[in-house]
Amino acid sequence: MVELKTKTSIDAMREAGRIVAQGLAAARAAARVGASLLDLDEAAHAVLREAGASSPFLGYRPHFAPTPFPAVLCVSVNDAIVHGIPTAYRLRDGDLVSIDFGAELDGWCGDSARSFTVGTARPEDTRLIGTAESALDAGIAAAVAGNRIGDIAHAIGTVCRAAGYGIPEDFGGHGIGRHMHEDPGVPNEGRPGRGMPLRPGMAIAIEPMVIAGGGDHYHAAPDGWTLRTNDGSRAAHAEHTVAITEDGPRILTAL
Ligand code: MG
Ligand code: MG
Repeated sequence: MVELKTKTSIDAMREAGRIVAQGLAAARAAARVGASLLDLDEAAHAVLREAGASSPFLGYRPHFAPTPFPAVLCVSVNDAIVHGIPTAYRLRDGDLVSIDFGAELDGWCGDSARSFTVGTARPEDTRLIGTAESALDAGIAAAVAGNRIGDIAHAIGTVCRAAGYGIPEDFGGHGIGRHMHEDPGVPNEGRPGRGMPLRPGMAIAIEPMVIAGGGDHYHAAPDGWTLRTNDGSRAAHAEHTVAITEDGPRILTAL
């Protein structure tokens, strides 16, 4: 079931989203060569504490997970696509890092992700990250009342495929509100004009993921959480929580 949010509720989600943006910024600032992934998690956690917000990630256990998620931040490095668990691994020059973060404030959730390079960027990684961001922009632009979920999916998929990248099967965006994951699913590839109609008051997380090698396949690492590309190529991820409004898409997880 899709819950349509009032303007007041969307404003409350914006406050949760602002904390998400601040946490991502703090984690990124901590992501220097030699920093551990736990340092990034701690930087994001400090933002939650300061804001009096809680983490929808910590202790989260979806159907596929063998254990509750042990951190507030997902950190996925290089061939890890999403759901990476922060570890003592220390970042190296040129690592491609994807961070995904959520916050819950006053009963409302926000969810956002970004990718970046630590230290010296490889041109191919910059292109990969730029494509994930362009796909997110295209998905957001299609998130208007009167369109359908398939229009968002098609917009995202078109950008990723045109760049020659793979799109992980079976993972994508989602409705969001009082819970981090709500209906409807928001796939990263699909046919225009299909799926649920978009209505003002819907809030969704749009989150393209791209695989540099062009394959769509991935596997879970031994930790049961981290999804890695099957071909070992690098991946990038970009996500915003967005509300459909009468005035067009409203990004709730910007700074
Ligand atoms: Mg996320
Ligand atoms: Mg999400």
